[in-house]
Amino acid sequence: MKQSTEVLSIEAETIARTGIIRYYPMVVSKGQGARLWDVDGREYIDFSSGGCVANVGYCHPRIVRAISEQAARLTHSCFTVCSNDRTPILAEKLIGLLPGNYEKKIWFGLSGSDANDWIYKILPKATGRQKLVSFIGNYQGQTMGAAALSGLLPQKRFLSVSNVVHIPYPYCYRCPLGHNQKDCSQECFTFFSNYLSGSICAPDEIAAFVFEPIQGDSGIVVPPPQYIQKLLEFCRQNSILMVVDEVLSGIGRTGTWWSCQQLGIEPDLVVIGKALASGVPISAIGGRKDLLDAMTASHHVTCGGNVLASAAGLETLAIIEEENLLANAKEMGKLILKRMDKIRINHQIVGEVRGIGLLIGIEIQEGDDPSNKMAHKIVYACWQRGLLLYYLGLFGNVLIIVPPLVIDNHQMEKGLEILDEALGLVEQGKISDEDIRAFAAW
Ligand code: PMP
Repeated sequence: MKQSTEVLSIEAETIARTGIIRYYPMVVSKGQGARLWDVDGREYIDFSSGGCVANVGYCHPRIVRAISEQAARLTHSCFTVCSNDRTPILAEKLIGLLPGNYEKKIWFGLSGSDANDWIYKILPKATGRQKLVSFIGNYQGQTMGAAALSGLLPQKRFLSVSNVVHIPYPYCYRCPLGHNQKDCSQECFTFFSNYLSGSICAPDEIAAFVFEPIQGDSGIVVPPPQYIQKLLEFCRQNSILMVVDEVLSGIGRTGTWWSCQQLGIEPDLVVIGKALASGVPISAIGGRKDLLDAMTASHHVTCGGNVLASAAGLETLAIIEEENLLANAKEMGKLILKRMDKIRINHQIVGEVRGIGLLIGIEIQEGDDPSNKMAHKIVYACWQRGLLLYYLGLFGNVLIIVPPLVIDNHQMEKGLEILDEALGLVEQGKISDEDIRAFAAW
């Protein structure tokens, strides 16, 4: 096997920069549970789940078996034109897990992006209402419909006009209206409802709100329950659909199957991806039958609802249930918050620590200002010491702790110890600008 440096030099010559983000020079070779190894044989604890995908851990023996057995029978049959014996069973299983007491169906695709393209294409047609409302900081993906729904500059710069209206998200720690969390009366909501219906679009022109119940890429931003209540009321009063994007936050990550359940939201549609099949590409939209049946053969991709991915998906969902991973996510999440309470006392650069279950964000700041550079240095120092994590955020300064839901106490404690040490090293200036220069990610 080639060493990291050799692989990375081949990568530098061959791989398109448009498709990659790099936080550190790692070449992964194998995984098991919440651990990964690089090609040089170094072991790491993983706090990233490879982008919230490895929820049941890497190479779970049941997933390996399910994929191997399915691969030996059939890897592809084009589900768009011919059914198979796995995909409808996965749909049936997902329907049983979704919130809401109404008739449901499932659409299958390949990625969170193509699923959000469904939302962008179909909902205005299915409802006869032209506008979609999304939030500043939402991330829906890279394809054009998903990019139109996203409220982040890296996606927005490719679009000129669209029918999506973006409104401020209640990012209370860095309130867009400059308020203090303690004296907040949800003015951002009042502002948007007046502003929207007064100057941008009447509520009866809005097909849906598209909403990450907990914003992921913008820095694990948890909205206050009062805000959600107002939003739900507004949707109900104006017959506006509620679409939740659970691509990152779903499949058990927050300790319930869907993060919207933590906030008391009963959505019309749920967008699903990432962890559904433990890394075999598949995405889904689940929810109201009338919407999902609205337009026959109007959004499909050749490998969508693939049989191999469906077999892996069925096994993923079974493992989460049978190994009580929702309970573990809750318990480990509490442990992180408790340990971080202690760790932050010694580190001025740690701001708010927030999240639910194993979806935790840590604000890194210099004074009160978000610090992208410090966040990157911490992530780099962690990697050097055997802990993998990323940073994200509207200001690129939030460390995200999203380990596989199978992580155990010992691995969690060890990982947090490394993080503690890395925070200290960065504060003492032990990681230089030069160390991270080649890897600036977001
Ligand atoms: N929605 C959310 C909330 C996401 O976090 C992501 C990916 N980060 C996507 C959609 C897009 O998914 P994909 O990368 O599989 O296209």
